[in-house]
Amino acid sequence: MNIRKILIVEDAALLHRLYDLLLYAYKRAGTKLAFARNGREALDTLAQAPDVDLILLDVNMPVMSGLEFLEHRRRHGVFERIPVIIVTTEGKEEDTVRGLEAGAAAYLKKPFEAADLHHIIGRVFAPADAAAPPRAAAGSADEQAPNAGTQPTR
Ligand SMILES: [Mg+2]
Repeated sequence: MNIRKILIVEDAALLHRLYDLLLYAYKRAGTKLAFARNGREALDTLAQAPDVDLILLDVNMPVMSGLEFLEHRRRHGVFERIPVIIVTTEGKEEDTVRGLEAGAAAYLKKPFEAADLHHIIGRVFAPADAAAPPRAAAGSADEQAPNAGTQPTR
């Protein structure tokens, strides 16, 4: 799938730079990146430009946290068609569980490597039970990304 735009919601400006670098291949393929510094800014950004195909959502942010953003989204029924990858911190397993329960499609744990990020984006857009695209060139990604996972099928 061609991902038109990814919204990155993260309060640390340094990580905006990092995402920009790690998503270079997507940018070359035409994906636009948008940035917000907390959940409230993300809601404002989405209200103005809802043409977002994926949200990368930090948990710990001022003003409105990632979990609060997910709860707001569910309560108000807004932007629910956009898949969310929640970005949690190592050792905070409860955030991962709460994020998935609150509607995140997948999670990624900080610190992560480029391969983890690319893997989980690929998984969100090409679920394991769909016809698998030839992603195996980079190795069996399923076995190589202990820092990321998708919502278990229920
Ligand atoms: Mg943060």
